[in-house]
Amino acid sequence: MLSRLFTALILWLVGSGSLGAQGLPTPGSHFGFEIGGHRKLADWGQLTSYFENVARASPRVVLDTLGSSTRGRPLVMLTITSPENHRRLGELKAIQKKLADPRTIGGQQELAQLLEQGKTVVLMTHGIHATEVGGSQMSARLLYRLAASNESSVQEILTNVIFLDIPSLNPDGLQWVVEWYNRWVGTRYEGSPLPWLYHHYTGHDNNRDWYAFTQVETQLAVQNAHNAWHPHIVHDIHQMGSNGARIFFPPFIDPYEQNVDPALIAGVNQLGAYMAAELTAQGKKGVVIHDRYDAFTPARAYQHYHGGVRILSETASARIATPVSLSWEDLRAGTGLDATARSWNFPWPWEGGEWGLPDIVDYMEAGAFALLTNAARNRRYWLENFYHVNRRAVEGWSRWPQAWVIPAAQANRAGLAYVLRILTSGAVEVHRAEQAFRAGGRSFPAGSYVVPMRQPFASFAQTMLEVQRYPDLREYPGGPPIRPYDVTAHTLGLLMDVEYFPVADAVTVPLSAPLEIPGWEFRLPAAVRDPDAVRIGIYRSWQEPMEAGWTRWTLDQHGLAYDTIRDARMRKGDLGDDYDVILFQSQSPLSIREGFREGAVPPEYTGGIGDAGGRALRTFVRNGGRIVAVEEASDFVIELFDLGLSNAVERLPPERFFIPGSILGVDLRQDHPLNRGKGGSTPVWFWRSSRAFDVHDPQIEVVARFSDGNPLLSGWLLGPEYVAGRPAVVEARIGAGSVVLFGFQPDYRGQSVTTWPLLFNALAATR
Ligand SMILES: [Zn+2]
Repeated sequence: MLSRLFTALILWLVGSGSLGAQGLPTPGSHFGFEIGGHRKLADWGQLTSYFENVARASPRVVLDTLGSSTRGRPLVMLTITSPENHRRLGELKAIQKKLADPRTIGGQQELAQLLEQGKTVVLMTHGIHATEVGGSQMSARLLYRLAASNESSVQEILTNVIFLDIPSLNPDGLQWVVEWYNRWVGTRYEGSPLPWLYHHYTGHDNNRDWYAFTQVETQLAVQNAHNAWHPHIVHDIHQMGSNGARIFFPPFIDPYEQNVDPALIAGVNQLGAYMAAELTAQGKKGVVIHDRYDAFTPARAYQHYHGGVRILSETASARIATPVSLSWEDLRAGTGLDATARSWNFPWPWEGGEWGLPDIVDYMEAGAFALLTNAARNRRYWLENFYHVNRRAVEGWSRWPQAWVIPAAQANRAGLAYVLRILTSGAVEVHRAEQAFRAGGRSFPAGSYVVPMRQPFASFAQTMLEVQRYPDLREYPGGPPIRPYDVTAHTLGLLMDVEYFPVADAVTVPLSAPLEIPGWEFRLPAAVRDPDAVRIGIYRSWQEPMEAGWTRWTLDQHGLAYDTIRDARMRKGDLGDDYDVILFQSQSPLSIREGFREGAVPPEYTGGIGDAGGRALRTFVRNGGRIVAVEEASDFVIELFDLGLSNAVERLPPERFFIPGSILGVDLRQDHPLNRGKGGSTPVWFWRSSRAFDVHDPQIEVVARFSDGNPLLSGWLLGPEYVAGRPAVVEARIGAGSVVLFGFQPDYRGQSVTTWPLLFNALAATR
């Protein structure tokens, strides 16, 4: 309450009319409502026009458009600093570039000068998860405060910090969510879920894209913000569930991925703890640190491999902009937290009550301001820390090889291009060898790719190329595993079917200049390219799983035509008139059959394919069609056709069987058309929704089996005996058609190049 009064006081002090301090438009005058009010959301057009107006009027603010989002909206970045810093922005950027690469610094005198003159570079990113609406709204209020106020705390920030602010990493989703919310506000559907993915392809997975860089929003942010500026601090602003803490800041829980520099871990700890202490000092209750979020996967933490710290904050959600009311009994325990008990990492529990957008925006703004204050006051620390992390990388860590060598002649050109694209997009220097050479006891032809490991962002190359051995973390000795926040493997060679080697000796062959980022290069299986092409339908539920979105992305990248099938079309029947093959990505049978229940969303989005859809699918297959079902959707198909198949790993307790996102080996039956174009074995992606099958009907063909022994290739696996040797892909012939069931994920987040041929072969069925 105090802080809200304080904010109100500031707003009053800086002026209440249409123009506030410094002649700047106030948020209230621009939007016609105060930012952070109950049931009030600014859409992307309103927000960007506000940013333009402030940038036009303020010498502290520059607005740049980085490019266009997936659906064509402007992705923008604000650069906020003092007018003096703006005048010498090019020089300040050059200082940062030098500190990012200690090889370019002439000596101690130059270093001292750079450390003296440089500024702390902070990047904040908001709203990547578009239903987490608070961050993007807050950015307008924070902008006004920084542009208009002459408080000494603001001046301190403007003088010492270059603040790069991306108010939405997902403008499409922001617009959809705000339109949806505004359409239904005041009706019984107020605050109801958006019935489609809030990123066109990836939904919530858009923040799992920070090494594969598949989506344009990620590419634009990485190239124009991260790689252009190499921020010391990146703060990604999120929201979490309603019934735990009010806000989370780091420290993260274990594990950190092993290539993250120790000083970055310590930097995350001090900054997150500082932010938490600031909010608690202001009387904000319910602040937690060291809870549930780990720092293992680089898919969520680009900056940990680029000299800077990555701060995640998570604020408790309301129902979009509609307040919720929580009693003490509603508050729940999490991994590192009981929300009703005071503890070292949660010193002041929130006692319940109303929680809404005003609280969310207040907490977020306080967190952002605390971070900027730390960045300003500790300018010297942040610059030195950044320099030393990069210096240690250039000197090389003892467990790193001298270089990685990727032979030029790879059978999988798409995989090779993808790996090179990831490394170079991640600012790793990759060269071509100008002559044939020998290293590490092997011969490599001229043109092979060399990644020397004495370079600033070598940790990124190391983590992407090496095999992951995730630590065996348990809740207590012999007890259940501690669930990783995300997944446990990302080895590019396995995902992308590319062979490479670590080399222990320095590579002395002449090398080309570092490569530019190559374009995408995809090769299609011949049957899929055929202009008498198969008519593919992808089931598109109003509860569309992210995996289906990723598969739409993969097919779009290949220029492969498909149609998406809504429930109504499914129920209409005669599916064979329009389709030869229908894909169900991983989705539960209940969700496929029933969709949203009545009352949860407006009536046109309720219900699934229903009994009529089930009958239509049975007829479709019996008349010669094919259904391809992945992971959870295989249960739907097993039920639909009463197949003699079951999930071999269902109901196993996690202390016996646990694979939370790992790469496993699978043996492929060589004479089977579904394995066309592949060798005798392949790595595959296995995670929580994956399964191995038990086959009870000899008519069902086993197309692929998990490898014998321990099939783990990278990541974490408990209980290898439950999957080893068991069926991984099966085909059942039914009437004139067939069904193909995948136990693993053949299109993992657009990355599993190695299993794309299996998916494409399955989709290439012809009558
Ligand atoms: Zn989020």
